[in-house]
Amino acid sequence: MANKRDYYEVLGVDKGASDDDVKKAYRKLARQYHPDVNKAADAEDKFKEVKEAYEVLSDDQKRATYDQYGHVDPNQGFGGGGADFSGGFGDIFDMFFGGGGGRRDPNAPQRGNDLQYSMTIEFKEAVFGKETDITIPRTENCDTCHGSGAKPGTKPDTCSTCHGTGQQEVVQNTPFGRMVNRRACQTCGGKGQIIRERCSTCNGQGKVKKQRKIHVKIPAGVDDGAQLRMSGEGEGGLRGGPAGDLYIVIRVKSHEFFERENDDIYCEIPLTFAQAALGDEIEIPTLTEKVKLKIPAGTQTGTYFRLKGKGVPRLRGIGQGDQHVKVVVVTPTKLTDEQRELLRQFAGLNGEHTHEQQQSFFDRMKKAFRGD
Ligand SMILES: [Zn+2]
Ligand SMILES: [Zn+2]
Repeated sequence: MANKRDYYEVLGVDKGASDDDVKKAYRKLARQYHPDVNKAADAEDKFKEVKEAYEVLSDDQKRATYDQYGHVDPNQGFGGGGADFSGGFGDIFDMFFGGGGGRRDPNAPQRGNDLQYSMTIEFKEAVFGKETDITIPRTENCDTCHGSGAKPGTKPDTCSTCHGTGQQEVVQNTPFGRMVNRRACQTCGGKGQIIRERCSTCNGQGKVKKQRKIHVKIPAGVDDGAQLRMSGEGEGGLRGGPAGDLYIVIRVKSHEFFERENDDIYCEIPLTFAQAALGDEIEIPTLTEKVKLKIPAGTQTGTYFRLKGKGVPRLRGIGQGDQHVKVVVVTPTKLTDEQRELLRQFAGLNGEHTHEQQQSFFDRMKKAFRGD
């Protein structure tokens, strides 16, 4: 701990500086020296120095100890707080945005909550994409007081009971000795600040409920259950913290004719017995147009035909899936007398053929039962 600079000097504040002044000075310097921003060789050391100074001067107990005894080896801690000065810079964000554990600065900026929005879209909208506006209710910082909750022109006072820490120590003398408990400050409710004159727009909450219109671009090829993240479109942060994110969960309606599996489209086309037997050229609806499909003579029911590239655009990558057409031969249920007679003739004429197929089927079945 040789040549350690005075913490007040590091932050550039005087001994009597308020908690607010300490915090302001720290934020300014932390941003200035943060290694992500400042590429100077000594930025990292400067940043650590600033952080260490702030960790002491922002904590009433540590600050009092420091004022009395000066620098103490951080490895020995300050008896209770146990700040870890050797930690990386990552936790600057914990401090700013309210991650991490332990004692938190109740006045530190806090990231807003994430929001989730469920959106139901049509089958074809999922295939081709869609742009739309949605309106979501969300909590935003009050414009009148910029989130402070204090009437414009005034600012919240630092709570005099807890000096802005939001916590109170309660010392109890028990038969087992002195016990020190920490609890949320009762004067300020743990906020560390007291608003004397409330902002009338938000009634001192610093936040207001708003309906917000957001433009959403749904990419072509999304599937049911897909989730879009819209950065910074969640709820507003507290005390200048960043807004949360908005997650849009996509629900895709089913289609009366098409079914989808990943990038491929499936559909079923009914064929008459005559079409299946004699062959035909039929029109198949695809997602974009109608295409002609040649059905060869003697097509069996349940046969699949593939229409290449007529499926869904790939969300990641290029190209499209295919469309698979399953043909189903439909047995007629209502026949006129004439049709019935023609079918009888047909059965008679083709008796041999039908018999042939049936014969081979029964032969195979017999073999299967005999086991040879
Ligand atoms: Zn307000
Ligand atoms: Zn308080």
